Amino acid sequence: MTNAPRIKVVVLGSSKVGKSAVVVRYLTKRYIGEYSSTSDFLYRHNVTFDNVTTEVEILDTSKCAKNGCLYEHIRWGEAFIIVYSVVDKHSFHEAQEILNQLVKLKLPSYYTSLLLGNKRDLDHSRQICVDDGEELSLQYGCQFYEVSAAENFAGVSLAFQSVLREARSVQLLR
Ligand code: GDP
Ligand code: MG
Repeated sequence: MTNAPRIKVVVLGSSKVGKSAVVVRYLTKRYIGEYSSTSDFLYRHNVTFDNVTTEVEILDTSKCAKNGCLYEHIRWGEAFIIVYSVVDKHSFHEAQEILNQLVKLKLPSYYTSLLLGNKRDLDHSRQICVDDGEELSLQYGCQFYEVSAAENFAGVSLAFQSVLREARSVQLLR
């Protein structure tokens, strides 16, 4: 008997960009607003693509990127969602740092990555325009979406499905 396929997804990014909000939105369709951020949280659920059911593990990380956890998270995962907030320039720079670390630690292995700009509902206070996000994603060869966990389920769901589908395809090719 073969093991059921499994995809390990890690959600990374600066603190307060909405990592927990997007994960909870994707998994429950709901937006709650406030989330505890003291520790990492691992969620498990099943997705079915093309009649194949895959177990997905989603690691919602908390703010330990500065004390060595980033290395462990990157080693553990095979698909990465790097979140920044479109109203926080610093978080965009941190997203770039994380993309750099992925290149350093993961290549030449194949991995799936998605750059996710969150909080697009706060358009009036934007510090990062769509073009900046797109350009960064092209530079690192990752997928790119802008979403609002607060306002909209569809965009978040589309982004997750897209990264999961790519990760699944890569597994099938192995
Ligand atoms: P994390 O530290 O990256 O996990 O961020 P959280 O998910 O805890 O969210 C941080 C704060 O941003 C919370 O107050 C959320 O309510 C808020 N937030 C998250 N997503 C959005 C969004 O799409 N729009 C707005 N306006 N606020 C959001
Ligand atoms: Mg959190």
